[in-house]
Amino acid sequence: MTSTVPTAVHDQQEERALDALPPVTMFGPDFPYAYDGYLAHPAGLGQIPATEHGGEVAVVGGGLSGVVTAYELMKMGLRPVVYEADRIGGRLRTVGFDGCDGSLTAEMGAMRFPPSSTALQHYIDLVGLKTRPFPNPLAPDTPSTVVDLKGESHYARTIDDLPPVYREVADAWSACLEEGADFSDMNRAIRERDVPRIREIWSRLVEKLDNQTFYGFLCDSTAFTSFRHREIFGQVGFGTGGWDTDFPNSILEILRVVYTEADDHHRGIVGGSQQLPLRLWEREPGKIVHWPQGTSLASLHGGAPRPAVTRLHRAAGDRVVVTDASGDIRSYRAVVFTAQSWMLLSQIDCDDSLFPIDHWTAIERTHYMESSKLFVPVDRPFWLDEDETTGRDTMSMTLTDRMTRGTYLLGDGPDRPAVICLSYTWCDDSLKWLPLSANERMEVMLKSLSEIYPNVDIRKHIIGSPLTVSWENEPYFMGAFKANLPGHYRYQRRLFTHFMQDRLPADKRGVFLAGDDISWTAGWAEGAVQTALNAVWGVMHRFGGTTDPKNPGPGDLYEEIAPVELPED
Ligand SMILES: Cc1cc2nc3c(=O)[nH]c(=O)nc-3n(C[C@H](O)[C@H](O)[C@H](O)COP(=O)(O)OP(=O)(O)OC[C@H]3O[C@@H](n4cnc5c(N)ncnc54)[C@H](O)[C@@H]3O)c2cc1C
Repeated sequence: MTSTVPTAVHDQQEERALDALPPVTMFGPDFPYAYDGYLAHPAGLGQIPATEHGGEVAVVGGGLSGVVTAYELMKMGLRPVVYEADRIGGRLRTVGFDGCDGSLTAEMGAMRFPPSSTALQHYIDLVGLKTRPFPNPLAPDTPSTVVDLKGESHYARTIDDLPPVYREVADAWSACLEEGADFSDMNRAIRERDVPRIREIWSRLVEKLDNQTFYGFLCDSTAFTSFRHREIFGQVGFGTGGWDTDFPNSILEILRVVYTEADDHHRGIVGGSQQLPLRLWEREPGKIVHWPQGTSLASLHGGAPRPAVTRLHRAAGDRVVVTDASGDIRSYRAVVFTAQSWMLLSQIDCDDSLFPIDHWTAIERTHYMESSKLFVPVDRPFWLDEDETTGRDTMSMTLTDRMTRGTYLLGDGPDRPAVICLSYTWCDDSLKWLPLSANERMEVMLKSLSEIYPNVDIRKHIIGSPLTVSWENEPYFMGAFKANLPGHYRYQRRLFTHFMQDRLPADKRGVFLAGDDISWTAGWAEGAVQTALNAVWGVMHRFGGTTDPKNPGPGDLYEEIAPVELPED
């Protein structure tokens, strides 16, 4: 595990032994199914009877999950009808700066992807996108990092350049994971795809820790008895930086991230992540059933998706009826819903009968992280200029307890314009920006940064207007991504397993939930892809289809790998 404060090498032999094993992937721990293998298999994802070819399926949401779902259903010979309220890409949103060279863009949502996201990588490769290292704090390709806490700044290229207390904190985190969460054992089991071992470790932990916060987990560890250490850890954290805004969340959420290395070795998508869903939308698959060669999602939709869904209700004959913002009403045998769950409570008029009551409770209890970002375009990567007095970079990737929290420097070659993400924040830190306009935000950010870099005139390099977002304020999102609180495991399980619809009462089938909210690892695009593939399997099954026995789908293996069930009484 590479970390901002790297995991202590408390057992170097063990570490070397792990490195000799296959790499960590986002395989489990809740539902250890090999989505990457399913996608790579030449037999494909499954087949539906020829009599069903051309059958319409509604896909609500044109984010990554919706586009993957629609693409795979189209390949099987069904006719996906995608509804999108905002723009294709959803939380993969790449935006250009007004008046600047079009190649200068900002990632308002997802911006860095771990190599362990192997199902996501399948689609990145499929559409021919390239990735490159993302300049996270202290990452090998990041020129330098400044950690600024309580008014004191430290300049570092590696962890060893920071004062010893940072190493102590790293060691405490590592020991805490080992002591409370069998970290090395789970790491080995995930690498080896040892399903029984993963399930054995994880069932014990789910039972023990579902009621525990991230902060409580730290406090209970003998390794983290020092408040000062917990405070520094909260500010600097691991992987991408400070995680104290996650302290109230369930520790299970954090363990999923660290076990699967979701927060490590990040890469950005060259040219922007939104290209992925846009290219899939336009892509004409070589292997396609029923539809003529040259068919794409774009061609099936006459170029654009249908507008926002405004109403979902049931009708006679086992049909689900979708009304959209244009007033168009169509009924379907299957609907895949990939937008954020809260949309079902407010923006879309829904029949209670769409889901069993326990699923409604899970939808209502969904908890989101807030998140804001602000980007400015600059004339060039001036931060690489050497400071004459110190010999250091003029400015660095910056982690701080000031308002900005995380500042990222995004260059694209020495003489080309570049971009600074002046601030990326979550939860309360994001809410602090909410009432401010983009320019007001930028002013406060520049002031914070001038305290850290008193001799650097950032403003003189800015060549355009700032771009900002607060995801909690976006009408079709209402939050950045789900984060389960203690006690939410059962809700999460209900939502994730909803694609196994034979278990539902007959009058509650036909709507499939997918996307980031349904995933065990919300906030990571891999989960949007994995849950899309569950929904594809569920729809295929509903249309009487099957998978090739050589390539069983997630529903075929469900009984063997079903997520742990906790008692309800
Ligand atoms: C700030 C931020 C940072 C992130 N960072 C990372 C990262 O670094 N790495 C990573 O892997 N992941 C990251 N993620 C998570 C990643 O972006 C998501 O997992 C993924 O994009 C979710 O895709 P989705 O299709 O499930 O949902 P969405 O992208 O939200 O798609 C749902 C779509 O539904 C549409 N919609 C809403 N209501 C309706 C309606 N009534 N009718 C029709 N359509 C509707 C929305 O407009 C949206 O396009 C980040 C997310 C955010 C917000």
